[in-house]
Amino acid sequence: MRLLVTGGAGYIGSAVAAQLIEAGHEVTVLDDLSTGHADAVPPGASFVEGSITQAADILDRGFDGVLHFAARSLVGESVEKPGLYWENNLGGTLALLEAMRGAGVPRIVFSSTAATYGEPENTPILETDPTRPTNPYGASKLAVDTALTAFAGLHGLGAVSLRYFNVAGAYTAADGRVYGERHTVETHLIPNVLAVALGRRESVSVFGTDYPTPDGTCVRDYIHVADLARAHLLALESCAPGAHKIYNLGSGTGFSVQEVISVCREVTGHPIPTVVAERRAGDPAVLVASSERIQRELGWKAEHVDLRGIVTDAWAALPR
Ligand code: UDP
Repeated sequence: MRLLVTGGAGYIGSAVAAQLIEAGHEVTVLDDLSTGHADAVPPGASFVEGSITQAADILDRGFDGVLHFAARSLVGESVEKPGLYWENNLGGTLALLEAMRGAGVPRIVFSSTAATYGEPENTPILETDPTRPTNPYGASKLAVDTALTAFAGLHGLGAVSLRYFNVAGAYTAADGRVYGERHTVETHLIPNVLAVALGRRESVSVFGTDYPTPDGTCVRDYIHVADLARAHLLALESCAPGAHKIYNLGSGTGFSVQEVISVCREVTGHPIPTVVAERRAGDPAVLVASSERIQRELGWKAEHVDLRGIVTDAWAALPR
């Protein structure tokens, strides 16, 4: 297929673009490089530097589908600058959807998030559970999910939203290139812990040790980026005109912040000092996905369920 990958210079978008190319698809990456890196765009992809609001110019050339990763994704920033998140994540996506409609592009795979659920009532979280986001980031992603349902129902778009839990690790492509996480502003746990092992930080903060969990720290579901990327190819193939499907993507197992830090110590051989810090606003105690729906409907299953393997890949991919 001829595909547009928005945000294909970012961590997840570049890994998916690489897998799409390996699978024989023709890929154009559209990225404004606000957080991505031009050198992350896989060889073999065409690259256009620009905003998703310019997608119409590209899509007019004839495309079979869009994989839409371009977004603002920092929860804390979204609380401070909600307008930026509504404008980029919802406004930008609506412009993209209209451009797709104008150009007759039939399918989209969208990066949604566990943040659409907010504080969960049940564990593991099902796609049928209530969506009550607790920050503008999650709310803006949920609004796009809602818009996709409308565009599918009204305009015959084929859409899949993938709700990511905690994505980690790195993808090594067939040509040996490694697609890892390297955010300039890093908020994620595993890269922050590994930065200590690399000597770039003195310690890692543990945000809250008084949660109602076995060791008092938050529990999250870590999914390897290679598994996550593979789900996008299955989702793309499954897009059916007029249907919008939503799938959770996690490994189904929860690990606490302390457990993650312990595994990072084992993998790196570094003592990794920690500092207990205040809870981070809006962090639910436990977020674990049920990925039964995507397993049942698309035959997807996480292959990298060992946290040590995920951390080992993230560690090997870090620029030294
Ligand atoms: N966390 C932490 N220290 C850090 C970064 C994250 O204790 O330096 C905690 C955070 O509070 C959450 C978990 O690690 O409980 C995962 O956070 P992350 O930002 O990686 O992903 P999120 O679950 O927010 O999407």
